[in-house]
Parts: sequence; structure tokens; C-alpha cells
Amino acid sequence: MEKTITKSQIKQAAQEAYEATKDIKGGLNAHYIPYLANINPDLFGLSVTLTDGTCFNFGDTEYKFGIESVSKVPTAILAMIQHTPAGVLKQIGADATGLPFNSIFAILLENDHPSTPLVNAGAISACSMVAPQGDSEDKWKAITENITALCGSAPELIDELYESETATNFNNRAISWLLKNYNRIYDDVDMSLDLYTRQCSLGITSSQLAVMGATIANGGLNPVTQKQVFDPDISPKITTMIASVGFYQHTGDWLYTSGIPAKTGVGGGVMGVMPGLFGIASFAPPLDDAGNSVKAQAAIKYFMQKLGLGIFTGDKITIVD
Ligand code: GLU
Repeated sequence: MEKTITKSQIKQAAQEAYEATKDIKGGLNAHYIPYLANINPDLFGLSVTLTDGTCFNFGDTEYKFGIESVSKVPTAILAMIQHTPAGVLKQIGADATGLPFNSIFAILLENDHPSTPLVNAGAISACSMVAPQGDSEDKWKAITENITALCGSAPELIDELYESETATNFNNRAISWLLKNYNRIYDDVDMSLDLYTRQCSLGITSSQLAVMGATIANGGLNPVTQKQVFDPDISPKITTMIASVGFYQHTGDWLYTSGIPAKTGVGGGVMGVMPGLFGIASFAPPLDDAGNSVKAQAAIKYFMQKLGLGIFTGDKITIVD
């Protein structure tokens, strides 16, 4: 079906979604990373960026929270830019695990592949693939410059979060060395894990994440800066990964009920991609049992349902002024 939606309908749906979900209780801050456990649980923001660069923001959309696993998306894109989507498929994979984000079992089940760059194992492997090999500072520069290009503004390292994660990332250390054993770490192991930990500790806002989502939805052209960040053929590849594993073991339920591919992080952020139309992001710290923000999920679902949108509806949507 052909459908036309106005920008003011979109703005109104976002405002309504924010108002309707802001008092939702439930969930708990990530408790296994001390910095995250202490963040104000009432913070909440909702941002939408359309592929023409129009931005709508409601609530705490300029608060810098830990990007955590949403950072897996830009670094997967960087690995695809540097090594092609086929190279990432060969060296990491593109399979949903159906298991928690930090599962060691998933590595064993996938015949020693890290599965996908959107779980911890594959993300550490993706950090190891980032060029230039062997140079931590230049690799870090490549990672942060790519995020900056995708968002149109720079993220900022939260030192306290980085220290907090580094002091407690024992499971990720085990994953890294297991992957090394299977020849799935393509650079120094400790360096690759450190880069992963550092990228998870970047502070980002929901307005920045909505622009990143819109850049992916827009074939790699950042609609705010008008800069082509990556080749258009990477967009369907990264969106496929987001759709298949973005909510870890709850990904099927999420896609079924929300209709939008989205990636979560234990910092409370969720970034959604509606191809050709918009990026959406929400942030609220309390998480469900799989590590996904309770309120951010509710807000994005409300927005999608209000506008009757869904990636598999078959509708041809046009957004007009
Ligand atoms: N830094 C977190 C970890 O590796 C990220 C997990 C997540 O956001 O899902 O445990």
C-alpha cells in the first residue's frame, strides 16, 4: 500500500511516545559494571532523525551515556569499509546466536566462529580487524573518526566507565583468548579487547545515535552533514545484522512486536534503523533480563505502532512536509 506521512505526524508520534512511556517503571540498571549501576535511572530521551536531516528530540537527548554494545554497529561498518562485507562474513560471520551477548557457548556452537560482529565475541574480533594492524592509537583514531562521521559529531570517552569496565571484564577476557585459540583474533589479543572495552565506554547522546541510525537508513550518506560515510551496499548488510541479533536472545520478539531493526546497549541506549525513512534512538538506564532498556523499547514500539510502520509491511512510505 502507498502511504504518505507528514513530518508533523512524526513529530507528534514521537512526543506522544515520550509522554506515554516516561513514567514506566521496571528493569534494573546494568549491575555488573559499577559505573552503570549508579546512573540516575530516571533519565530518558527519545530522538528521531529523518533521512532529509530533520531531527526531533524529547527529554534527556543531550545526556552522554555509555554507548556500550551500540558501538558494535559502527565498528562492524568500519570493518566492512576496510575489508568489504564479504570479508567480514568470512572472518567473523553474520549469524544470530539466540544467546546472551557475552555467551562463550555461542562461540563453541558456531564451530569456532564469533557468529556476528554484534555480539561481544564478534565485536572483539572486529576491533582486531580494524586497520592499521598493530597500532592501538591509530586503530582507536579510525574507530572514533568513523563514529564521528556516522553521528556528525564526536563521542567522548567516559574515563570512569572505561576504568570500571576494564577492572571487571573477566568474561570478555575469556572470550578473547578462546577466540585467539580458534584464530579469530586478527591482531594483538589484549589490544583488541582494550579497543572493544574503550569503544563501549564512549559517551554518546540519543540525538547522536538517531543521526547514526539515519545515516545507515540513508545508504551511508549522513543526512545532517551530507557526508557519504560508507558505500550504499553496506547499509543492507549492517541492517540485516541489526535485525537478526540486535536484541540478543530477544531479537525475534523485538522485531515481531516493534517492526524495526534495532541495536541495544547495556548503557540503556537503543538505536533503530528504518531503511530509507529514519533513524530513531532512545535512552533510559533500567534494563530487562537480556540487557535491553525497558523504557526505550516501550517508547520506540509506541512510535512505530502509532504511525502504523513496520519493515515487513510492504507499504511504500513517503514522508512529506
Ligand atoms: N561492555 C559491555 C560488555 O561487554 C557491553 C554489553 C552490551 O551492551 O550488551 O559486557
